[in-house]
Parts: sequence; C-alpha cells; structure tokens
Amino acid sequence: MQGFKGASEQYMRKKGLHSVLHWANEAKESTFAIRSLFLNLSAKITMADKEDKNPENVTGTFYVDSQCIDCDLCRDTAPENFTREEDEGYSYVYKQPETDEEREQCVEAMEGCPVEAIGEDGAE
Ligand code: SF4
Repeated sequence: MQGFKGASEQYMRKKGLHSVLHWANEAKESTFAIRSLFLNLSAKITMADKEDKNPENVTGTFYVDSQCIDCDLCRDTAPENFTREEDEGYSYVYKQPETDEEREQCVEAMEGCPVEAIGEDGAE
C-alpha cells in the first residue's frame, strides 16, 4: 500500500510530466507560428519583373530589375555579365552569357540574389 509520501511523489512526477508536455506543445505551436510568418514574408518578396528592368540591361535572357539593393553578390558571382551602375548604385546585365560557364554563373547569381531582382525571362 502506498503511503502519503509515495502518492505525493507520484503526483509531483505526473505534474512535472504534464508541465514538460505543456511546454513542448507551446514550443511546437511557436515553431508553426514562426514558420508561417517566414512563409508570409517570403511570399511578399516578389519575383523579378521584366517590365521593371533597370534601363542599362542589355537585351536578352538575364536582367536585373529595380528591386536591386546593390549587395554585390551577382557581380562577384558572374563578373563577366553583371556590373554596377555607379551613380545610382544598382546592378545590371552588361553582357548576356555566351558560354555554359557564364550561364551557370548567371543562374547561380539569380538563385543567390537576396531580393530576387534577377530574372531569366527577359528574352524577346
Ligand atoms: S545580387 Fe541581387 S541585390 Fe545583389 S547586387 Fe545583384 S541584383 Fe542587386
């Protein structure tokens, strides 16, 4: 037969377990909330818009639009194709890729652009 002390310990263990489960459930709900917030923010960042190209882009597949924040990533990744408009501080495509290597670098720049300002649907 269980004494008062044993029953009390068992109660405290159950209560502790209940607290841990409650905490785990709250953490899970927070994770869902954070994930959902992130997805909403991601959805608000629009894809590159060929109707909003920076004017210096040469005609062709790749281009940079006005969302560019001048972070330098594309110019560093594909220096044969992207350059900087020095007065206004943004990137544009000064030469369309001519080799597989240049094309791969342009795709890498497009995929790495933090604001999705690079498009590849610019060919007429
Ligand atoms: S990677 Fe994107 S944001 Fe950064 S400079 Fe190039 S186009 Fe602009």
